[in-house]
Amino acid sequence: MKQYDISIIKGDGIGPEIVDEAIKVLDAVSYECNFTLNYKEYLMGGIAYDVTGNPLPQETITGVLNSDACLFGAIGGAKWDQLPRELRPESGLLRFRTEMGVFANLRPAVIYDELVNASTLKAEVIEGVDLMVVRELIGGIYFGEPRANDGQKAYNTMVYTKDEIVRIAKVAFDLAMKRDKRVCSVDKANVLEVSQLWRDTVEEIAVDYPEVELSHMYVDNAAMQLVRNPKQFDVILTGNIFGDILSDTASMVVGSIGLLPSASTGEKTAIYEPIHGSAPDIAGQGIANPIATMESAAMMLRYSLGEDKAADLIEKSIKKALKDGYRTKDLAAYDAKHVVTTAEMGEIVANYIHKL
Ligand code: NAD
Repeated sequence: MKQYDISIIKGDGIGPEIVDEAIKVLDAVSYECNFTLNYKEYLMGGIAYDVTGNPLPQETITGVLNSDACLFGAIGGAKWDQLPRELRPESGLLRFRTEMGVFANLRPAVIYDELVNASTLKAEVIEGVDLMVVRELIGGIYFGEPRANDGQKAYNTMVYTKDEIVRIAKVAFDLAMKRDKRVCSVDKANVLEVSQLWRDTVEEIAVDYPEVELSHMYVDNAAMQLVRNPKQFDVILTGNIFGDILSDTASMVVGSIGLLPSASTGEKTAIYEPIHGSAPDIAGQGIANPIATMESAAMMLRYSLGEDKAADLIEKSIKKALKDGYRTKDLAAYDAKHVVTTAEMGEIVANYIHKL
């Protein structure tokens, strides 16, 4: 039987509640699909600071690097907001992503038919949306040097090397091959030299993927098109700052923050996590929506472990639960037949996995 080592970071706030439900679902699917997941838990964030004095202990870095993939909940909370910057949970998270070398952030935005009314956009605009934003995560203007602010003048530097563009472009094209075979590369090549290199390099990579249709779009237009007609997109490939903005826009197309998974992948390992934070306002109440974390677990099975059938089974079971009217409190206003707790949602989805 195939075995995989999975590192688990539950984190703070609702993190432990939602990760526990994702594990329930992973247990059900690994049983049905005949493989074994060996979990090992590591500390990170506020809880890690409380226990070890460090929001990112070395043991966590080593443990995650030695695992096949990492399932992550969320970190942070007001309790740790007064700490010096470098000790805060959020600094630990940024350092974690850099240490793991996860240069590609994948954020799918898929509409559940049952929840079209949960979006602020009209149903006819969003019905059938199924897109993926591929964002470069550890380069570009957020990391470029020189950077400074002397109180009178401030600047940052947007820099990409050809190698950095090549590796993220390949991720996008490989993904497109498994999807609808369309890549839209988003840049600002009419103004920025760095975007001109981006565009030329993406064109070069596209030659190796003759089946994939490549288009280019300026970022200002892309922001508008995402809201006007999101169905036109399959894979959106973009840099760090543009991707930051566009992936948040894309996520609101779908509606609830509790539904959206993400993957951050690199050459060493990959981290799978919901896009939302630790939601301290609802922690411990059993009302958090675990679906984004379950979807993140499905992405982990598909992209890190190659267990596509198991990933499909999780996704089908979530859809079935929503179709049958099960909703956590955040979605109670949208055609709910049964409002359930976080743990009940985990049980319902796990049961469907055994039945479907
Ligand atoms: P948040 O995403 O935690 O919460 C925003 C709102 O969405 C809240 O009202 C919350 O109750 C709700 N919400 C979030 N997830 C939900 C879920 N699964 N089900 C139902 N409702 C959900 O963002 P915030 O309030 O700005 O941040 C809270 C803490 O999380 C901060 O300390 C922040 O730094 C941290 N944070 C961590 C991550 C991460 O770990 N990757 C990401 C973002 C924010």
